[in-house]
Amino acid sequence: MATTYRAPRGTRDLLPAQRRVFAHVEAIANGLAERYGYRQIDVPMFEQSAVFERGLGAATDIVEKELFRVSPSRGEEKDKLALRPEATAGIVRAYIEHGMHTLPQPVRLSLIGPMFRYDRPQAGRYRQHVQWNVEAIGDPGPGVDAELIELALRFYRDAGLGDVEVKLNTIGDPVCRPAYVATLAAFYRERADRLALADRARIETNPMRLLDSKEAATQAVNREAPLLWDHLCDACSEHFAGVRVHLDVLGIPYQLAPEIVRGQDYYRRTTFEFFRPGAEGQQDALGGGGRYDGLVELLGGRPTPAIGFALGLDRVVNALVAGGFEAPELAPVAVVVGADPAATAARLRIATDLRAAGIAARADLGQRKLGKQLETAARDGAHFAAIVGDELEAGQILLRDLPAGTQRSVPLGDLVKELTRASRTHRHGGD
Ligand code: AMP
Repeated sequence: MATTYRAPRGTRDLLPAQRRVFAHVEAIANGLAERYGYRQIDVPMFEQSAVFERGLGAATDIVEKELFRVSPSRGEEKDKLALRPEATAGIVRAYIEHGMHTLPQPVRLSLIGPMFRYDRPQAGRYRQHVQWNVEAIGDPGPGVDAELIELALRFYRDAGLGDVEVKLNTIGDPVCRPAYVATLAAFYRERADRLALADRARIETNPMRLLDSKEAATQAVNREAPLLWDHLCDACSEHFAGVRVHLDVLGIPYQLAPEIVRGQDYYRRTTFEFFRPGAEGQQDALGGGGRYDGLVELLGGRPTPAIGFALGLDRVVNALVAGGFEAPELAPVAVVVGADPAATAARLRIATDLRAAGIAARADLGQRKLGKQLETAARDGAHFAAIVGDELEAGQILLRDLPAGTQRSVPLGDLVKELTRASRTHRHGGD
């Protein structure tokens, strides 16, 4: 028996119906990026592993457990490359490499592309998923922090998810965080026996991550945990207040949520995540982001404040599809069919001319009877069939309005004009 191949575990094929929804969502993201002045950038899908190890932190789950290391079969780069698990580190690497600090700051950038994480696959969690990243590099905030949150919420609304909410937090900076982390670790140490077993090891490595634990036992302990909000330094406190003032002015409601600590080491101060009400487990986050004021310096650039978000587009598409959303079908305006099954060249010639004139047209190139050709054209949603027959010799073609079931003879030279006029009065091509 021949081997059958399947898409790798944790990946999925986007078939045309779903890909169309994806394209719809991407078009909204790109349109908003342009309107808000975030210019598109692309960076490679793989980088030197060190960009992620240094940038995100070698002890983070994303680097330690989820990195897809790329192993070319030979050469000195063997084992030194990794598929990007997220885009921020690569974008910052590019910012530094291309001396973008000499451009007017902040540099506003937008990127849509696949990310790769060796996650345990489950509903809404893939090993290849697509993110929309928006980054404002070179602005200390707090205004731009609010701008990004507003932009993300507008994106969700425009895409068709009107009920998305934002959870907001601040995780301090190297001035105030270390003392808080020590206090928090002491708090957890005293209650280690009440924590979920899986979480205990983190008391010493990364106690703040315990705040967003999904384990019920740990969550119960967390209700008594000291809050960083009570330990912020003046600068962080002022910044957080500033973000909230800007959100208030924009009329954006938000929930204050100390558990939004994010998974990458580079975050400082503002952090936020987007959820739909009732779907608030971690893997249901639609997106998130935050400030990463130390990252440019960490990757070899000058000290540069920056902030960004990453929205998971697969989850947006899944939510839209689950809600019955269908992107408009791209139906042809006309299909060129013919009475003589074998006369495919004449049909292709006419369809080619229509397409050159900007009309969405197809030729039926299967050598089937006219009845079958017309049936297929109707099933594909074509509005017109242009029927090639004997009258072609006299320069005429039959134009059949498929839904109406009417037809008339038009001069071949007028076909473009006729179809252009007719298609203007009907909905075609997915608007
Ligand atoms: P993160 O920066 O890890 O919070 O990722 C940003 C967003 O990308 C998340 O809120 C998710 O919507 C999406 N995302 C992250 N990992 C995955 C995954 N494995 N599969 C699908 N979407 C993901």
